[in-house]
Amino acid sequence: MADFYKILEIERDASDADIRKAYKRLALVWHPDRNKDRLEEAEKKFKEISEAYQVLSDTEKRAAYDSERSSNESFFQKTHPPTPNFNPHDLFNMFFNNNVSDPFHRNFHFPNVNIHQQQQQNNTKRKGTTKIDNLHLSLKELYLGGKKKITTKIFDICQNCTGQGGFNIQSCGNCQGNGIIRKVNVLGPGLIQSTQSMCHQCSGSGKIVESICPQCTGKKLIVVLKSFIVDLPPCAKDNDKFIFEREGNASEDGGERGDLIFLLKETPYSKFERKENDLYYTYDLLLGDSLIGTTIQFEHLNGQNIRYFESGIIQSNSMRKILNLGYLDRPTNTYGDLYIIYNVKYPLYHEITEEQKDKIREIFPCLETQQQNSVDLPENNILINSELIKKNN
Ligand SMILES: [Zn+2]
Ligand SMILES: [Zn+2]
Repeated sequence: MADFYKILEIERDASDADIRKAYKRLALVWHPDRNKDRLEEAEKKFKEISEAYQVLSDTEKRAAYDSERSSNESFFQKTHPPTPNFNPHDLFNMFFNNNVSDPFHRNFHFPNVNIHQQQQQNNTKRKGTTKIDNLHLSLKELYLGGKKKITTKIFDICQNCTGQGGFNIQSCGNCQGNGIIRKVNVLGPGLIQSTQSMCHQCSGSGKIVESICPQCTGKKLIVVLKSFIVDLPPCAKDNDKFIFEREGNASEDGGERGDLIFLLKETPYSKFERKENDLYYTYDLLLGDSLIGTTIQFEHLNGQNIRYFESGIIQSNSMRKILNLGYLDRPTNTYGDLYIIYNVKYPLYHEITEEQKDKIREIFPCLETQQQNSVDLPENNILINSELIKKNN
């Protein structure tokens, strides 16, 4: 006959509390759901632990077991045959006061903390929901930082019904105000299964509301506008979060407020763009300037006037890199670089006079090997099914 004391790792004189504690610890350690890699061993252990607990937790059975064990070992088994269809999972569920109709083999999450404690927390007031708001700011506003006032909609307790959802509220008669219907089934000698389900009469609230509050239509919460000041440090980035703890939505059952989170969203500013910690500024310049050079001048995000002379020839889409004039990398407190991208604007008019063309020919080499009229006779002009388009980047 198995040594139940040894199985539960307790002394012969262990108290009822010791036995409960031992079962609780070992059942969690050896639950098959937690031991997928050694399932066979775990199932065996789990069953042993459950059987041992079933006997030792029952004063009468324990006394019989203790006395029979020292004399005729087989006698105990004759007088106390194992419960038919004994399922260690039922015992486990009953012990942990879990809803048996939700078997373990589905989605049961083992808590790291005491299960009783967690259930109590679940039954108490829930925290309000977290409110997340996008805060759209231009790249310049993000660069500079500073205080921003934001008004946002959040749920607040309805003052009309003081968060009750209605008036003349009575305790639900169906569940005696518990919100839960409990049922007890006797599975076998000494084994009781208890199940619980939500009361449908009151949807689990335990209360019946006679007249619904017109202000919140029974929701207990109403939408209000609330203003907040976000104190932005310089050079915050897209998707940075600003969290106001317990300033979010009110809880409909009187728990503490949820959190309020502002999520920064960068919007473009002027001709600036940011990539990581580098800034890019697209500078438009005329074809003539790109050929003979020009003064480049624009205002940086920080207000500084950027001014220098760029001598020709400036190729379109070429860039000038200026070190350390980019975006601040907050963790390292260093700045990225500033790139000025040159975008050469060609003349928009199509017609250049013959006189102008001659001047251009004088300055720039032109191939001009194919005169317009000497190729592609009108009847097979391949340009008919074509168009001149601008390439993106
Ligand atoms: Zn009810
Ligand atoms: Zn109300």
